[in-house]
Amino acid sequence: MLPMPAGGRAPAPLPLTMRAVLILSFLLAATLSQKMFSGDQVLRIKAKDEKQLQLLRDLEDSEDLKVDFWHAPARPSLPVDMRVPFSNLKSVKNYLNSSGISYTIMIEDVQVLLDEERKGMTASRRLERSTSSFRYNSYHTLEEFSTGNKTRPAIWIDTGIHAREWITQATGVWTAMKIATDYGEEPVLTDVLNHMDIFLEVVTNPDGFAYTHSMNRLWRKNRAINPNSTCKGVDPNRNWRSGFGGAGSSNNPCSETYHGPFPHSEPEVASIANFIQKHKHFKVLISIHSYSQMLLYPYGYRKEPTHDNEELDNLARDAVEALSQVHGTEYVYGRTISTIYVANGITIDWAYEHDVKYSFTFELRDTGIYGFLLPASQIIPTAEETWPAILTIMKHARDNPY
Ligand SMILES: [Zn+2]
Repeated sequence: MLPMPAGGRAPAPLPLTMRAVLILSFLLAATLSQKMFSGDQVLRIKAKDEKQLQLLRDLEDSEDLKVDFWHAPARPSLPVDMRVPFSNLKSVKNYLNSSGISYTIMIEDVQVLLDEERKGMTASRRLERSTSSFRYNSYHTLEEFSTGNKTRPAIWIDTGIHAREWITQATGVWTAMKIATDYGEEPVLTDVLNHMDIFLEVVTNPDGFAYTHSMNRLWRKNRAINPNSTCKGVDPNRNWRSGFGGAGSSNNPCSETYHGPFPHSEPEVASIANFIQKHKHFKVLISIHSYSQMLLYPYGYRKEPTHDNEELDNLARDAVEALSQVHGTEYVYGRTISTIYVANGITIDWAYEHDVKYSFTFELRDTGIYGFLLPASQIIPTAEETWPAILTIMKHARDNPY
């Protein structure tokens, strides 16, 4: 503490230069911490035909426009969502207009949503500190999560392999709580756990997730250093040795879907792959993403259905039905390639090809109001409705050993 000046007078105002330095360092601290998205918009486009889709794909290759696809161009029936930095809004909108591509504004100002999200996190953290209770209806940072382990028929669930899909890690934490509290109480889960082990990895992309908290909320990949490029990060969900490197992933380290230098080059992927292969008894793999409200099964990289297509399709239908009964949320389901898009090197294709028959990807809420910035008030409803769908898949695996 500083000694009080004699007479208790208020301290003299700081000299102007000192104040300037303080203001400057404050600004510097602000710019060094969080990337700002003030004025950035997310545009939603329904392309009319393949030609328009190609024009949109060309946008991704134009690195100076810095368009960030939240939903990449896939097929005319599916919307394309893209975040456009404020500084390039005019050019991108001109490009769309001159190409005859119509769009709507899905998010007017990305920063407004980010500010709300941050405000909610701060308030929730304060409350948790004062009540020493974890709040499931708020987004949290890395340090608050953990995992577990064992050897019987097993179920793998991962959330957060894409860093910015925060609803998934939050759903993962709630699911862990649900499993722990329902065991011994709820008969289906209790019976599943008496026969099988559940492995839940909540923060599957830890450095990417940390980066979404510290620097850039909308970061998707991990933070791998790419030799010979200034761009960082590999998409861990394009890095699996299953159709690795084909169309539906990129060989450009600056792309959001960069597949990495070789299959399983990324520790996030290699560690899961090694664990599953060593364990040898995984029957279920559920990899949770957002957003779109879809339940997907293999393949993403090849057109031919799997040998188990009918069974997987029926199971997906039952799971989606169970999900919709909770809050009325509608999901579509089907093979990745025909339901969403061609995707190579993805988790569930690899798992299926390594004898994990019941391999599914969830794309959680929503269908494109908030996209990756789903309000925290939707965490619990999302987790609640996802749970019976997960349980449906687990129960089916228990009843149909192979
Ligand atoms: Zn994802």
